[in-house]
Amino acid sequence: MNKQLRYLILTFLFISLTSYRSIPFIGEESLESVFKRIKEEVEANSQAYVTLGDACRTIGHRLTGSANGKKAEDYAYNLFKKYGFRDTKYQGFQVESWARDTVTLQIGPPKSDNIKDVEVVSLAMTPVEADIRGTIIDAGNGLDENFEKIKDEVKGKVVLMNIGLIDAKPGQKNLHRSEKTALAIKYGAIGVVFANTVKGQVLLTGTASVTGNLISIPAVCISYESGIELRNWLQSQPNLLAMINMHNVSQPIKARNVVATLKGEHKKLRKEKIVIGGHLDSWDLATGAIDNGLGSFSVIDIARTFKALGLKSKRTIEFVAFMGEEEGLLGSKAYIERAKKTGEIDDIVYMINLDMTNNVYGFNAGGREELLSLFKELGNKVKAIDPEFGNQISNAAGLHSDNQSFLLEGIPAGTPNGKLERSVLDCYHANCDDFSLVNKKEMENTVKYTAMLLYGVANTPVFPAKRLDFYSTKEFFIKQNLRRELELGNEWRWGND
Ligand SMILES: [Zn+2]
Repeated sequence: MNKQLRYLILTFLFISLTSYRSIPFIGEESLESVFKRIKEEVEANSQAYVTLGDACRTIGHRLTGSANGKKAEDYAYNLFKKYGFRDTKYQGFQVESWARDTVTLQIGPPKSDNIKDVEVVSLAMTPVEADIRGTIIDAGNGLDENFEKIKDEVKGKVVLMNIGLIDAKPGQKNLHRSEKTALAIKYGAIGVVFANTVKGQVLLTGTASVTGNLISIPAVCISYESGIELRNWLQSQPNLLAMINMHNVSQPIKARNVVATLKGEHKKLRKEKIVIGGHLDSWDLATGAIDNGLGSFSVIDIARTFKALGLKSKRTIEFVAFMGEEEGLLGSKAYIERAKKTGEIDDIVYMINLDMTNNVYGFNAGGREELLSLFKELGNKVKAIDPEFGNQISNAAGLHSDNQSFLLEGIPAGTPNGKLERSVLDCYHANCDDFSLVNKKEMENTVKYTAMLLYGVANTPVFPAKRLDFYSTKEFFIKQNLRRELELGNEWRWGND
């Protein structure tokens, strides 16, 4: 071997071993090759759609703390085991949790036998017992300006208002149902009747509490059609009474996150952890196939794909099915509390959250500038082997799902960008969120592209974003325009200044 050639080889070796990004470690499979294998595996063998369908059929809803919820936890655990994750664990937690029992809504004029039963559901976090009777007052869309007009008349009455916005000014921002309820309580209402704004006898649930504690008055939801009928009736009978009788349960419940671990292979990097999670729990009015069967069963199938291909990861990956998300991120909060106690919180470098994530076409890095170039680079490689991938990279933090629990600790957290049809979104938290809404190909796109991105993130030589300290986390939320939302949710930890 002549000197020059030896020099060239040594230089090449040196560059290969020391340069970070594009050149893999010696003997390591290239990203392109792994991505191709992921594509083939998911397109041929994905079990995401089948297992979600089976769970919806055999279990039903997956309400946290219920017998069904427990079955769902076992179902996820058994799937991880079946796919070869010897290190699969339950992570139990105990919390006070709300569950519905019975509710009726009757409407009629005072001193009359013309009483009508209206089909209704309770919103979550409503009282354990309520039996009220009051004149109905219509607060329209239930925004500040609506209440401003009637504020002196609300006291002692039952407020009727829309969940969504009807005939609103262009650009008008809606309030969350819990915020509208808080306004009604502030003005002295004794009950709340929400009219859904989605057509087709759809009933919606979800929390009515801004604080996470039980609220003081009953709040219920009726269908769009019942809302129209009621308002027509109010035209001719302005003094209609509403009678709400409800029973709910609020008690300590036990639930379990399910955690499957793929141990990292790299001597130094395996201590670092990537968490990919989706909440397994649902509300109880339907099977929650979309919210969040889509996300949780995609996560489980991404785990399956890694095992089926024998993929090795430099960093440790934890696949997590969280419970208790719907009642206030209970499972991810418990996960974080535990990680703080064990010190493992320092090992988590990134969290990827899938909540109603469908037909993935890009990635949202989660508001950390340092991550953009990594995701662009990975996205380009995904697109190179699968041109169908849209590769739209965005970068904004979002709240109200399990990623929030990680963000609050300064841990970077992102989510794949996906798409759902309007008609599917209309069944959010409603009695129509069932398996017929799930599209097989779109769900498989979620699995396929998220698996590629996860692999890329877990194997990148240096993860570019670091955990933020307490005060930098505050600055982060302010910059992301999320302070007000966190304050409303009682999650702002940085005082009033
Ligand atoms: Zn959800």
